[in-house]
Amino acid sequence: MRIAIPKETHPGENRVPVIPDVAKKLVRMGAEVVIESGMGLGAGFQDSEYTDAGCQTSSDRAGLLGSADMVLRIRKPAIEEVSQLKQGCIHVSFLDPFNEHELVRAFQSAGVTAISMEMIPRSTRSQKMDALSSQASLAGYVMVLLAATRMPGIFPMMMTPAGTLKPAKVFIIGAGVAGLQAIATAKRMGARVTAFDTRDVVKEQVESLGAKFLEIDLGETGQTADGYAKELTPEQIEMQRQAQAEVIADSDVLITTAQVFGRKPPVLVTRDVVERMRTGAVVVDMAAETGGNVEGSVPGETVNINGVTVIGDGNWANVVARDASQMYASNMFNLVDDNWDEEAKAFQVDFEDDILQGCVITHGGEITNDTIKNILEGGS
Ligand code: NAD
Repeated sequence: MRIAIPKETHPGENRVPVIPDVAKKLVRMGAEVVIESGMGLGAGFQDSEYTDAGCQTSSDRAGLLGSADMVLRIRKPAIEEVSQLKQGCIHVSFLDPFNEHELVRAFQSAGVTAISMEMIPRSTRSQKMDALSSQASLAGYVMVLLAATRMPGIFPMMMTPAGTLKPAKVFIIGAGVAGLQAIATAKRMGARVTAFDTRDVVKEQVESLGAKFLEIDLGETGQTADGYAKELTPEQIEMQRQAQAEVIADSDVLITTAQVFGRKPPVLVTRDVVERMRTGAVVVDMAAETGGNVEGSVPGETVNINGVTVIGDGNWANVVARDASQMYASNMFNLVDDNWDEEAKAFQVDFEDDILQGCVITHGGEITNDTIKNILEGGS
């Protein structure tokens, strides 16, 4: 099986889908691995490290894609590149299938098997392939570091002959994978951390990290069978906004990570609340690129709202591209390894496998994922 790894083309993207150590393991399994020349440079890996690992290199991107039995990448492809793939090729990447209807249809009509990394189910067995989690965890860490360097104060309490500095107050909304890592990072740096999440089960996890859980009674909230938050009603969102406003106004740093799977993130912090924060305070809106939790955050930018720095950069894991690549590559490897037929030396698409059932979006000219099929057939 010929596995191709093209260079990521999104501006500023430094992460790479496969690092040399992982390429070596794929080669050992019997795969023929071809990388586009310069593929690893963003994360600090030279072509020679891949050739030492047993890979071939190619500068002919179209040829590389056109001859691939499997393509591994991070970001979704340009639509034009889908038609360059062979029928039956297996394409693995983040795809954003809830929104990328045209792309899903392009995969379908090209007869390509499209695997969406976002749709890997959240089960114990699939944890090792869960790139949403690996990248979100790094995002949680990076967001805290960014906030710490942008505020005019420090995180820890400091008692010195020149006086005592109080610890920074950090409030984190959403304590999933990214939020918990943000809490842990801010605690390690000595901040006083408070957090809120709509899933009750999270309270204990927040407290076990030494942070305070903000109690807000929103009535029935809960989580789905996959462990995701259920969407709140407009009334519940309003209750949450009001109950958090005082804590936010009194915080030096606000980090928002609240998401509802498959939907736009809820707007949980209105502009007037940001304006009430003290001058120099920092807000990091994790999902600014998809709408965000904070009114006034701008995707891909850092803006100033009444003296408050509001960071909406996005692609947080890219800041630590080498480690992010290592984790993503490991997720890729585990997915391939789990479905590898040793005799055929090829990836087998078996719909009996519950993980593939969840993450394969198109196969054999059909949209195989029921959720995505329903959305597309309901009109896009
Ligand atoms: P996510 O990115 O969908 O959401 C982030 C957090 O925002 C979640 O904790 C969610 O409850 C919270 N949220 C949603 N609406 C909110 C609101 N209005 N106010 C405050 N918070 C709100 O979720 P995620 O971080 O990817 O993970 C969600 C859950 O899945 C977690 O419990 C996680 O531990 C679990 N998980 C399990 C596995 C596994 O078993 N393989 C893997 C990853 C995650």
